[in-house]
Amino acid sequence: MGSPIAPLLAKAEAGERLSPAEGLALLESHDLTALGTAADRVARRLHPEPFRTYNIDRNINYTNVCSAVCDFCAFYRTPKSPEGYVLDTDVILQKIQETVDVGGDQILMQGGMNPKLPIEWYEDLLRTLKTHFPQVNIHGFSPPEIHALAKVAKLSTRQVLTRLKAAGLGSLPGGGAEILVDRVRAEITRGKVMSDDWLDVCRTWHELGGKGSATMMFGHVETLAERIEHLERLRQLQDETGGFTAFICWTFQPEHTDLSHLPKLGAFEYLKTQAVARLYLDNIPNIQSSWVTQGLKIGQIALLYGANDMGSLMIEENVVAAAGTVHHLTLAQIRGAITEAGYIPRQRNVFYELIDEPAGLAPMQA
Ligand code: SF4
Repeated sequence: MGSPIAPLLAKAEAGERLSPAEGLALLESHDLTALGTAADRVARRLHPEPFRTYNIDRNINYTNVCSAVCDFCAFYRTPKSPEGYVLDTDVILQKIQETVDVGGDQILMQGGMNPKLPIEWYEDLLRTLKTHFPQVNIHGFSPPEIHALAKVAKLSTRQVLTRLKAAGLGSLPGGGAEILVDRVRAEITRGKVMSDDWLDVCRTWHELGGKGSATMMFGHVETLAERIEHLERLRQLQDETGGFTAFICWTFQPEHTDLSHLPKLGAFEYLKTQAVARLYLDNIPNIQSSWVTQGLKIGQIALLYGANDMGSLMIEENVVAAAGTVHHLTLAQIRGAITEAGYIPRQRNVFYELIDEPAGLAPMQA
């Protein structure tokens, strides 16, 4: 007997769009093998090339001071906390130099929403970094940070993004999305951007010609229908702008947070949700595996459940580490995981352009 979700999987495999009700039916299914097979077929249709990609960058958390309170966050400190920090520019430059020394071409700059940092601090920092490292892309400042900075600077988000772009901001990370449903956000965050404004920061950045990623952190207080609502809102914005290069999802890591009583989701739910995302997000080209939260083994298997990219060899990851769960991989491990899955490992930049040139393969754009 065939799987009851087989007609929906066939529809997605053929490139037809799933409705929210159909997406929910897939998430409610426990037929992981069927979901994974369909997601893999879609990934291979979108990416028939013989390689799978990875990136080398460094996550620089420039400040841990934050005006918001998120129950799932073990990283932030309040503006009055003696444990708050803002990294000196010299320290950031040193971190970038170390990144460049190991072949990295990008930094991911994210931090808390620090109310003491004016927009000029960000502009000066970006200009200094670009003067020293013009070749390094600055993937920086998630929508909540941009939204909060606009309030501190008393400017519109368009004005903030225009000024940061002029100062050297290269692309926008899709962090701080969690679940883009206000009921969920109101339950787990206070003082942080709500769904419409998160999306509006991305929309504005895309309208300015910028690219960025989209994320989802799931497995806390959301329902399965709210997971689909999140995917639906991303899909709608992507229809409008086409500015998302990639989607990455990961399971909430409850250790050391105010939600530590919640059970931690396992690999089954992670792989299932990622597979459904691949089937649902028919207009977002790339899906990244989240080995940082899942570890090497599941991170590798994710390549067979809809992901076409191993994400980044993150040289530093403080936010997940603060919550207690962080996996470290070497470049050899990432490349080895891709090879073992039957693909050629290739290094890309944040725009998914291949930046290595192995023998026998002409450079091309993913
Ligand atoms: S998740 Fe971000 S916005 Fe929320 S408390 Fe942590 S640093 Fe602040």
